[in-house]
Amino acid sequence: MSIPVNTPLLDGKEELYLKECIETGWVSSEGPFVARFEEGYANYIGVKYGVAVSSGTSALETSLFALGIGQNDEVIMPAFTIISCAIACIRLGAKPVLVDIEPDTWTMAVDQIESKISSRTKAILPVHIYGHPVYMDEIFKLREKYNIKVLEDAAEVHGAEYFSDYAGKKWLKCGSMGDVAATSFYANKIITTGEGGMILTNNKAANEKAKSYRNLCFEKNRRFSHSNIGYNFRMTNLQAAVGCAQLEEIENHIKLKRKIACLYSQYLSKIDGLRFMVVKNWAKSVYWMYCVEIDPKLNVTAFEVCEELKAYQIDTRPFFNGLHEQPVFKNMGFFDNQQYPRTNFAYKYGFYLPSGFSIQESDIQYITASLENILSKLY
Ligand SMILES: *Cc1c(COP(=O)(O)O)cnc(C)c1O
Repeated sequence: MSIPVNTPLLDGKEELYLKECIETGWVSSEGPFVARFEEGYANYIGVKYGVAVSSGTSALETSLFALGIGQNDEVIMPAFTIISCAIACIRLGAKPVLVDIEPDTWTMAVDQIESKISSRTKAILPVHIYGHPVYMDEIFKLREKYNIKVLEDAAEVHGAEYFSDYAGKKWLKCGSMGDVAATSFYANKIITTGEGGMILTNNKAANEKAKSYRNLCFEKNRRFSHSNIGYNFRMTNLQAAVGCAQLEEIENHIKLKRKIACLYSQYLSKIDGLRFMVVKNWAKSVYWMYCVEIDPKLNVTAFEVCEELKAYQIDTRPFFNGLHEQPVFKNMGFFDNQQYPRTNFAYKYGFYLPSGFSIQESDIQYITASLENILSKLY
């Protein structure tokens, strides 16, 4: 049996709450766990409103709609992210505009944003990466200077914190810093509902718009009258029941991720030719996935190393390929001839190691030894 790259942890009241759904017959989005999960998670992050939806991808699109992003608007985002960020934009008729990443944390290079701001720029979309926050102070400054909106993608950072000098010298949770934030509860995230997501905001109007978009834009007081083109992005009561149980355990989940990272850092530090995760002093990472980068001097790519690890029954995942490299966007004429060298570098040399909640210290020792074998052959 191989060591899986990820496994969810479902050892709380998931079964009990699911049983309650079945016994009461509340399985759709009308059931009581949905509001309970929304209030619970919004409260945990420290915002007023949460709108539960079917996925992180639909949360991103709903968030942009809630911010009023539409035809011909531009949204600045990192090249190094999941395609969902760009898709959310494009579906609304807006245009993704890219910046590169920081080479150490793989998060958005905030010093490149200002040069990409145009009269059409309506929002910045910082994506917190692999448990580590984006350097937000620069984005706060630009938001004020240019009067643009901020949508955080907080899918990979449940519970992570950022120390802001600009916003009052205090620690802020990821997901509470944007005008709106989108998160995901996919099975590999820190807490999961199987599939699912949420829009988080303090803004009442954005909250209303998000709720409307998720549910076909029904007019408020007239059922079956619709003011706009919405979607069915609703989360079921069954999913929210699992979410409520997961939320009760979130601190434990984060503790486990931090422990896994601590063990990896200890063991891997013996190996030459690997660079691993750094945490800035203004960040509290939740280490969603444990990531490494191969030293290019070894003349081997992440893909080759991951193939070799497969032979040791170790499951891994490559990093994101840049949005500018996606065939679908090339065909659409987006990002023509644009270069994002740090994103390309991360894609070529980076990958993540098994980081599931069920991983044991002995697994991490085995993974370290296997990596050492593979890399020592190259020196
Ligand atoms: C997982 C993830 C998403 C998408 O979430 P889904 O629920 O899979 O649609 C969006 N952004 C980031 C950064 C993610 O890691």
